[in-house]
Amino acid sequence: MSKKTLARVLLTIGGAGILVSALSFLPLGRACASEPGQAAIALVPDSASTQDGVGEKPATENTVTDKSIPDGARILMECYPDFVKGYKDGQILFTDGTSIVYDDKREKSFLQKLDDADMEDMFAFEYDRSSWTPGFMQDAGRSRCEPFFKKMYGASAAQVSKNLVSVSWFGESVKFTRVNHADDSLRAVAAELAKYPELKRYLKSSGTFNWRKVRGANRQSAHSYGMTIDIGVKYSDYWLWKNPGKKETDKITYANRMPHQIVEIFERHGFIWGGRWYHYDTMHFEFRPEILR
Ligand SMILES: [Zn+2]
Repeated sequence: MSKKTLARVLLTIGGAGILVSALSFLPLGRACASEPGQAAIALVPDSASTQDGVGEKPATENTVTDKSIPDGARILMECYPDFVKGYKDGQILFTDGTSIVYDDKREKSFLQKLDDADMEDMFAFEYDRSSWTPGFMQDAGRSRCEPFFKKMYGASAAQVSKNLVSVSWFGESVKFTRVNHADDSLRAVAAELAKYPELKRYLKSSGTFNWRKVRGANRQSAHSYGMTIDIGVKYSDYWLWKNPGKKETDKITYANRMPHQIVEIFERHGFIWGGRWYHYDTMHFEFRPEILR
């Protein structure tokens, strides 16, 4: 049985069709960022739901189409199989039986996409790896649907702390979450970076877990969730330091001193880089495999 076939599992609950990711059977979680195109989804369209005792349609290639489910929902299932199990009726379904609406259908300004992001808004910006200069207002990954991240990593400092483990990081020990195997991904980054001693001076950590709001905003920082690390503060650039007094909607100038080799290694293991944001933060690396897809 092929991986793809194995991954297509039809589950029926209470006679109603439901869409389920079968990725918990597959070792794709950590490899999510490097295995595009693996549509590991089973779908029973709403029209196939049992009514008056009529049986479901078989899940053939004709009835199971990836078009039936938003790309972002499919990617979330693939990247977070421990939590996201399916999509139905506009809701992301979780393994704990709860759900979160995927798209609240509201038109949002740039700031609203950051401050009040739904699941869909997380994919509103382009994480463009074809250029080392971020596109105007492209802040892929800065939109975080807070209920989603709080559900996975913890909704308070105490809850997040329970999942933090020690990761050895170039002579230091840093705390990182074991949720979604983010700790293993950081260890894999460290192992690869260790092959390049000339990069070591950029790697000193200046912080991982810190339950706090984003500077100057009311949204929760990614550091709150324990899946984010800042490194090389001595060599780092931040949009607001370089453009004092500018607002998040203003035009700004770009700066970076972080070697691209470091960025590429982090990205290979599911981390996005703050230096790819128009509102750049070049010391910042955040475990967000769904944004790299
Ligand atoms: Zn940071």
